[in-house]
This record gives sequence, structure tokens and C-alpha cells, in this order.
Amino acid sequence: LLDDAGELATTIFAEMSALAAATGAINLGQGFPDEDGPSEVLEAARRAIADGVNQYPPGPGLPALREAVAEHQLRFYGIPLDAAQVLVTAGATEALTATILALVDHGDEVVVLEPFYDSYAAAVALAGGVLRTVPLRWPGFRPDHDELRAAVTDRTRLILINTPHNPTGTMLDRTTLELVIDLAHEHDAVIVTDEVYEHLAFDAPHIPIASLPGGFERTVTISSGGKTFNTTGWKIGWLSGPLDLVRAITAVKQYLTYVNGAPFQPAIAVGLRLPDAFFTGAADALRAKRDLLSASLREAGFAVSTPQGGYFVVADAAPFGVTDAADFARRLPELAGVVGVPLTAFVLPEHREGYRSLIRFAYCKRPEVLQEAAGRLAGLA
Ligand code: PMP
Ligand code: GLN
Repeated sequence: LLDDAGELATTIFAEMSALAAATGAINLGQGFPDEDGPSEVLEAARRAIADGVNQYPPGPGLPALREAVAEHQLRFYGIPLDAAQVLVTAGATEALTATILALVDHGDEVVVLEPFYDSYAAAVALAGGVLRTVPLRWPGFRPDHDELRAAVTDRTRLILINTPHNPTGTMLDRTTLELVIDLAHEHDAVIVTDEVYEHLAFDAPHIPIASLPGGFERTVTISSGGKTFNTTGWKIGWLSGPLDLVRAITAVKQYLTYVNGAPFQPAIAVGLRLPDAFFTGAADALRAKRDLLSASLREAGFAVSTPQGGYFVVADAAPFGVTDAADFARRLPELAGVVGVPLTAFVLPEHREGYRSLIRFAYCKRPEVLQEAAGRLAGLA
């Protein structure tokens, strides 16, 4: 979290987006789509503003959205949920931070898959917790079950998973999720699952851990509307789980943001109730983009991973002699007019070995932008 001068560093996403803006490079760094999502959702937000939904919503969120989340969990995953078990948050980020602050005491351990989304480590540090990492290694990025077993002990308070996974695109299979449930029961740990890419799965269906036997009773499930509806700037997220956990997290959340995004909440509720064709269409469109960018990176000379879901592909720049991905990422705008994020930004400083030539590229961009990036990357070879 701290830079070499001991200051709280700017996030890698802000740094790389600023670099793209300053150099005119194509921004395949920060993960956000470059076109709007479904018109029904945008229209519902306009309507809510016109209808005066512009003051503080209730603390746990507007009933319309909490009910829509409950319906969504039942419709897609067969998870029966009461609206009272849903808390609306300022994006998945606040759901994660509030959960960690509510449940982790000083010295408690939090097991995470590494690389991990950057806010995890920051939130655990704020809570005074200790990270225990389970490595996902290039190129398969699958967790080793023995390493997972070894990481979870009676000191573990939370097992924090993310599927589909940022930055690797890994999706956790049923056997791995069952192991997580067994370990949580054995060591009396709570499972926190970040499922913001739940509808962006390409090859196999997303499996929420709360839908498996023994899962729901000790799991906090987190998601958000940003990725599913191309509304990352709205910051409407939510979490759900057993009432006692949700209550404990609500108590913390009220002092973080209190509430947020009143007119966007009913709009996301409209999105969650869209027909199946919308959700499958979004995954199909993104799969085509994954294939397009992966092929271009391969042609340009990178080795690439095969993401099973989410926004990102990981490329190995070792064929270009790269041994410092962060330095390469900073030079990439000049070399190829494209911005990516070094994987070393998602691992603890002492675990950088094994990630030093890897760069994450976002493919959640318009096809013509990915084509232009392909042309530029071809110049690298
Ligand atoms: N978790 C993961 C894995 C993410 O990639 C992101 C960012 N897109 C978030 C959480 C944060 O989501 P939000 O913008 O809803 O806060
Ligand atoms: N989740 C997006 C990413 O991983 C954006 C993160 C951010 O800007 N904080 O790129």
C-alpha cells in the first residue's frame, strides 16, 4: 500500500488511467466499459430523478432494489433470500470494506487468493488483520488445494474468494468451492465471496458458493451493478447473507457512506429483472472481445492466459525479454500506444517473483477500439 517514500500510494488504476490520458494511449488498464449498458436501466435512472428520488434512501437501501437482489439470487441460483438479508452499498468496494471492518479483529487472519483486487489488502490493513495468501500461478491460475488447506487455520476469520476472478479470469470450480466450505466449517471461519463478474462467465456457468450445501449459512455474497450493466460510475453494490452477519455489517456501513445513489438504486433493480437474453447477450459479446484481444496479443508475440470470465486477459511479456512488468507497463504507451496493468500490482511485494513479466489487459472495450489496439500491438514485435 505504501510507496517507497512510505506514503499511501495512488492506486495502480488511477496511475495507469492518468498515463493513458497523458499519452493518448488506448486505455486497456482500468477495467471499465466504453459504451453504455441497457437503455431500460439508463431510462429508469432518468425517470427516478424526474420522479424526485433524490434524497437519502433508507440506510439498508431502497426496498425495490433489496427485493430485486433477493429475486435475482433465487432466479439465477436457486438461493432463497429475504429482502431483509440484503444490504445496498456504495459499490462492491464498500461492501468488501464494511464486511472486513465488521468481522475482522486486530490480528485475525484473512485468507485470499493472490493476485487479488487491490482494495482487499487495504481493507484488511484498516481492520488490523493479517493477509494469508494462496497463490494462483501463471498460466493456469488454479488454486492448489493443499496450499488452500494449509492457509486456513483456527486463526482464520475470513476466507475471501473472488469468482470470476480479477485479474486472472479464473472461475472457481465446484470442488474448490466445496473445499472452501469444508474449511470454513472446520475452522469456524466466514466466507466472503466477491462475485461482481457473476454474469460475465464464458465457458461454464458461475457457481455462487452460497448455493452449495453448507455454504449460505456462513457466507457473505457481494456483487454490484457496475460490470453487469456497464454502470461502473454509479457505484451501486450489495451484499447478502445470514441476517446476523448482514446486521453486523450494516452497523459499520452506516458510518462509512451511510447511504448512496438513491435514483440509481431503482434503476439497477430494473436491470436485475431484465430477461435472460440480456444476460446471455452480455456474456456472448464479451466472450467475442476476449477472443479478439487474446488473438491480437498472441499475434503480437505475447503468451496469453485463457480467462473463463470477467474483464481481463493476462499476457506474458517474457518473450520480449521483460523482467519488470511495472517498468514495461509504464513504457508501453510509448512502445505501442496501449496501457495495461502489471500483475505485480495485485500481489504482496514479497510475492512478486512469478509475476514479473505479466500484464493485465482489459477487453471490455468496443470492437473497433480493440482492433485499433491490435494494430498498435502488432508494431511491438
Ligand atoms: N471486486 C472486483 C474483483 C473488482 O474487479 C472491482 C472493480 N471493478 C470491485 C470489486 C469494485 O466494484 P465496485 O466498482 O462496484 O465498487
Ligand atoms: N475493477 C476495475 C479494475 O480492476 C477498476 C478498479 C478501480 O478503478 N478501482 O481495473
